[in-house]
Amino acid sequence: MNTAIYSGPVFDMAKQQFAQVADHLEIPDMDRDRLLYPKRAMAVSCPIHRDDGRIEVYQGYRVQHHLTLGPTKGGTRFAPSVDIGEIAALAIWMSWKCALAGLPYGGAKGGITVDPYKLSPRELEGLSRRYMQEMIPFVGPHTDVMAPDMGTNEQVMAWFMDTYSMYQGHTINEIVTGKPISAGGTLGRREATGRGVAYLVGRALEHLGIRADRATAIVQGFGNVGSVTAYSLAERGVRIIGVSDHTAAYYDPAGLDVAELQRHVGKHGQLAGFSAESLIAASELLVRKCDVLVPAAIERVITSENASKVKCRILAEGANGPTTPEADAILHQRADEIFVLPDILCNAGGVIVSYFEWVQDLQRLFWEETEVFDRLYRILERSFQQTIARAKHERISHRTAAMAIGVSVVQAAKRTRGLFP
Ligand code: GLU
Repeated sequence: MNTAIYSGPVFDMAKQQFAQVADHLEIPDMDRDRLLYPKRAMAVSCPIHRDDGRIEVYQGYRVQHHLTLGPTKGGTRFAPSVDIGEIAALAIWMSWKCALAGLPYGGAKGGITVDPYKLSPRELEGLSRRYMQEMIPFVGPHTDVMAPDMGTNEQVMAWFMDTYSMYQGHTINEIVTGKPISAGGTLGRREATGRGVAYLVGRALEHLGIRADRATAIVQGFGNVGSVTAYSLAERGVRIIGVSDHTAAYYDPAGLDVAELQRHVGKHGQLAGFSAESLIAASELLVRKCDVLVPAAIERVITSENASKVKCRILAEGANGPTTPEADAILHQRADEIFVLPDILCNAGGVIVSYFEWVQDLQRLFWEETEVFDRLYRILERSFQQTIARAKHERISHRTAAMAIGVSVVQAAKRTRGLFP
C-alpha cells in the first residue's frame, strides 16, 4: 500500500511504536497495515473573513482511524504545527487509548493549521463553524464524535454543536463532547484529564511506597491538562516545584502556589509575568530533580538528548506522544529508577469522561459529579492494574504493555467481524 501522505516525525513515532507492539504480539504481516493505517482522512479548506476585510483560507483535517468498535472519537487541535501526519498519529493513539479503557470507539483526530491566539473571538468563531460545516458529511453521533484538544475549548465545542444542529434543524448534543454544561456537557469533563492524571500518579506513588505529602512534582504545560493536573496533585498534598507554558518556566523548591498561577493565567492568558525570582530556562525544567515529572504540553519533548538526564521517579505523560521511541529505549533501561505512566493510560481521563458525556446526551439523563468521578477512577484503576501486571509478566515496558492491550482489542474485533466483502 502506498502510504506516502502520512509522514513526518510524529507519524513515524506512531508507526515505530506499533511495529514494536506488533512484533511483540506476533501479529502476522498481512494484518499490520490494516490495523495501523487510518480508515479515512479528510482535508478541507476553511475560508473565513478576517476582521480587516480580507478572506483567508485555513487548512483543516480529520482522520478516522478505525470504525470497528463503534464511532470514532477524538479531539480537534488548532495549532500552527498541525499537518496530516501529526493528526493521523494522534488518531491512531486515540484508538489504542479507547481500546485500553474498554470504550466502544475507534480513534480520530482533527485539526486546523492555525495559531488560534492570533485570531479575534469573531474570527475564531467563524473558523470553528466553517470547519464543522465542512465536516458535516463525514461526522455524526454514530460515525465520529469530536472533542477539545490543544488550542480548542468548551466554547469551540459549543460552536461545533450549534453549527451541526442548525444544519440538521434540531439540537444534537451528542455530536461533540467537552461542551459547556449549558450546551449539554457533563459535570467533570473540564477537569477529567488532569484529575485522571493525578489519580494515576497517586496510584504510582503508592505502588512505589512514596507518600504524596512528601513528593514533589514538575508540570510542563499549563493548559487544561497541565493546570488541572498541578492543582489536583497539590490537593493530594504533592508540592509543585516547577511549571511552564510556551511563555515562561518557573522553579521554586519551596513550592509554587497553583491557585495563584491559575489566577494569573486566567487574567493574562499566559504564565509569563508571574514571578521574576523563580524564572528558569524551559529546557532546564525537565531535567530538575523531582518525584513526578508531568509533560502535559506537546509531542516529542523527552528525547534521546534528555532521557538519560531526567531525574524523576514517575514520568506521567499528560500530553500525547511526549516521549520519542529513542527516549523510550533509554527509559526502559532505567525502568528500576523511573516508573512510566504512558500517555494512552495516563491522559485517558479526558476521553473516558467524553464517553460519559456522549452516553448522557444519548440517554438525555444526566449524572451527579460523584458518579462521573467514581466511574472514571474505576476504569483508570482497571487499566492501571492491567498495564502493570502485563508489563511485569511479559517483561516489557509499561508503554508496550498498554499498547499491547489496546491493539489486541482492535485486532480481535477485526478478526471476529471479518473482512468485507
Ligand atoms: N483530546 C483528548 C485526547 O487526546 C480528548 C479526546 C476526547 O475526549 O474525545 O485524549
